[in-house]
Amino acid sequence: METYQQESRLYKALMHPVRLAILDLLREGEACVCHMEALLGFRQAYISQQLMVLREAGLLEMRRERLNIYYRVIRPEIFAVMDAMRKVTGVQPARPTKVNACTCPNCAADSEPRLIRL
Ligand SMILES: [Zn+2]
Repeated sequence: METYQQESRLYKALMHPVRLAILDLLREGEACVCHMEALLGFRQAYISQQLMVLREAGLLEMRRERLNIYYRVIRPEIFAVMDAMRKVTGVQPARPTKVNACTCPNCAADSEPRLIRL
């Protein structure tokens, strides 16, 4: 049973719409919290809370650079799990459209605001 418990702990980390959205967002590489905030439209405290769950599950790693905190997926195998689940549900989530302006260095480097379209 212990291995099942370990397994179910990981499933629990996935069992949240915002956490799934965060993981999808991190498929393309690392992103700072303010960037996730701009894309997902939730408050930073709420996003940080979900990030902590994913981090405790061993899926994410964070690094600090000046004022920004960046997160990245350290177990990319998790995307295969999500993709397999999508074959079951037949649902492919739409990419998020930016809801707020983002001042993170990745976005500020672009002369035009980066809009992720559906
Ligand atoms: Zn940004």
